[in-house]
Amino acid sequence: MKILNLIMAALLAVLPFTEAKGRLAVVDPILPLIPAPRAWQPAGQEIAVADLVRIVVAVDDQAASRQAELLVGWWHQATGRRIPVQIAGPGEPPAGTIVLRVTGQGPDTAPVVPGAHDETWEMDLTPDGIEIRAPEPAGLFGAMESLRQLALSAGANGTLPCGHVIGGPRFGWRGLLLDSGRHLQDVDFIEDLIDLLALYGFNVLHWHLTEDQGWRLEVPGHQALTDIGAWRNYGDGGRYGGFYTAADIRRVVSHAADRFITVVPEIELPGHAKAALAAYPELSCTGGPFEVETQWGIHEDVFCAGSDAVFALLEDVFDHVVELFPSRYVHIGGDEVPKDRWLACSRCQARITDENLDGVQDLQSWFVGRAARQLADRGRRLVGWDEIIAGGLAEGATVQSWRGTRGAVTAARAGHDAVVSPTSHAYFDYDVGELPLEKVLTFDPVPAELEPEHHHRILGGEMNLWTEYVPQTEIHRQLVPRITAMAEALAAPAGTKDFPGFLRRLHRHEGFWPVLGVMPGPASRPLQIRAEFGTDGGYRLLAHWRDDEDHAARFSGTGLRIQTGLASRPAQWRADVPPEKQPLPAPLEWTSAGFSANTRPPGDILAMARLESDSDTMVYGAPAVVELHESLALGRPVTLVHEPRERYAGYDSFPLTDGVRGGLRFNDGHWSGFEAVDLDATIDLGSQSVDAEISIRCLQDANAWIFLPTEVRFLGSDDGESWQELGVEAHDVPDTEQRVIIRGFSVRTGRKTRFVRVVATNHGICPDWHPGRGKACWIFVDEVLVRK
Ligand SMILES: [Zn+2]
Repeated sequence: MKILNLIMAALLAVLPFTEAKGRLAVVDPILPLIPAPRAWQPAGQEIAVADLVRIVVAVDDQAASRQAELLVGWWHQATGRRIPVQIAGPGEPPAGTIVLRVTGQGPDTAPVVPGAHDETWEMDLTPDGIEIRAPEPAGLFGAMESLRQLALSAGANGTLPCGHVIGGPRFGWRGLLLDSGRHLQDVDFIEDLIDLLALYGFNVLHWHLTEDQGWRLEVPGHQALTDIGAWRNYGDGGRYGGFYTAADIRRVVSHAADRFITVVPEIELPGHAKAALAAYPELSCTGGPFEVETQWGIHEDVFCAGSDAVFALLEDVFDHVVELFPSRYVHIGGDEVPKDRWLACSRCQARITDENLDGVQDLQSWFVGRAARQLADRGRRLVGWDEIIAGGLAEGATVQSWRGTRGAVTAARAGHDAVVSPTSHAYFDYDVGELPLEKVLTFDPVPAELEPEHHHRILGGEMNLWTEYVPQTEIHRQLVPRITAMAEALAAPAGTKDFPGFLRRLHRHEGFWPVLGVMPGPASRPLQIRAEFGTDGGYRLLAHWRDDEDHAARFSGTGLRIQTGLASRPAQWRADVPPEKQPLPAPLEWTSAGFSANTRPPGDILAMARLESDSDTMVYGAPAVVELHESLALGRPVTLVHEPRERYAGYDSFPLTDGVRGGLRFNDGHWSGFEAVDLDATIDLGSQSVDAEISIRCLQDANAWIFLPTEVRFLGSDDGESWQELGVEAHDVPDTEQRVIIRGFSVRTGRKTRFVRVVATNHGICPDWHPGRGKACWIFVDEVLVRK
């Protein structure tokens, strides 16, 4: 076997380090608060955490008394010390006191809706103690969470900088959407999540409780909603589901209220209702029967708009909802409603006639309007996704803008309130490669094109955590650390956020997350490893930025650098350590020109590049990791009958022969994607090879319309013109398979051959059960390997 020289290099020089070890000033000038306060005037002195020995509240300050009990617990967690709560005596408090004071008359409740509430606060830190003042209890709570952050980052034996802090969030609506429809979360877990939200100044838990894939709210008198609608039945006998009882909900709502968080329930209508229809098929247009949906996506069967029984059910559901949830907002969804069934339904068409409506778009607006009146009758207001704008907004409706920010602009100009959570900046179910921390930090809920006179209509924003691919165990990794950037976007003062400064504060938080049981994922996936081939048959690997933006400028001054390595297989990774924290095998020396190695381990190798911090243990970026496979086809040109789509054409010049296989994510840059056509690839190996194994791997990800080929044909030739069939391989993976699957196909040539041809037959059109039924499928192939 020819041993290739392997040269690893990078496009960028080493980033400068800004934080030399042991060079900190006597008093840390950084106030490690996230979100940043409105103002911070350091006084140049400090107070030891250990010197703070009591909390004092005024005798008649009941709001402060209640909150002081929370602070006692937090202080113990941060420092290991229990400090008492005392009633203020006459005169100045003694040294070592934390004074909590509510100076005004605000209600002791969560302040959503905003406007009537003042969440500002002030904090004085002096060598003698700390005093916190706020006009309303919600402001005091925000200040206490800030003090908690200071104590956690200082630790039991640390010090706090002295000075004057003024805080208070920019927006009144600072939320997380939690999807409990696709995956459920335990009540204990949700309570902990609420604590994390509170720590970062969030005040809304938008709880998505009903979906095609599960109805999670027990409703008295409608037991089938949860007996049937809460459970998904899989073809292989598997079952998934569960629901929340009234007692569960009360626990969550009460826990949240104690932390000034409002739980806004979402009951999806008229779409995303398949679970309810499985329980009550008569509420659909066709009458069913239905199963609780096991496929993610958009489904045609929705509530029948012509059925009065639908609204009778909603009456009961809303009665129960308003009893459980004190929130003055109820979210009704309203998104992604296919109109196919309504178009074909005589009852829906009769409704259009009776109500003098202009078609099915109008019918959706009418449906939402009727739900809005049901809520108004109960003293509640409606929030819906931006689809509720089509056909006219219901009176008083608030719009949640997710398809960009246009919905928010339209709503605000029409005199409606808006909550902003665009896919571009707020969808935390997206991989950090698509939505990295620094991009979240640039989020401004006020759309740039919105006129100043309408800005007050923007209530705030939310980060949306859809859970199709995020079971409970993955929620921390998706949320953290991006939750901190969203906190900054929603609650710090307006204006450009300073990324290096933000990272310095964030590093301090990373240090205390283990104390809170928070398990962060990576912040970004900025690097990609790419193979490049020389005319001599050798190749080198480039660690390069994932996109074309000027990362060098963006990362300068952050204390981050690229670290790379490569290893022989099997990789000596520790099974209990996530990839981004694995020790790097055989790290290579960097020079200003990049780095290089003259030797390459024999056989297949593993290469990794990642961004990491020089100043502490923080691993900023998820690593780029590739396995490089030996192959006679390595770097050989490929002739294709049909080109892959540009978006899925791989990152290399020869993605099918770069030795790099793809992972389970179809968009990881190593897959070539062909839409509606076969893969038909010919590779000239350059010289005749004796008996070898030819193999390819294909992906099935039905949710992404990617199906395995029906069969793969392998052909060989000496001249590239006359072909001999070497073998055909089919498979028995059903097209109903919902998991993401990689399937290999291979053949042994059994003869000398110079040209290798692989034909993988496209599945054709999406099958009947599929949301894209009748439309073209994709084939995804990562690599053609030819091995002895
Ligand atoms: Zn109907």
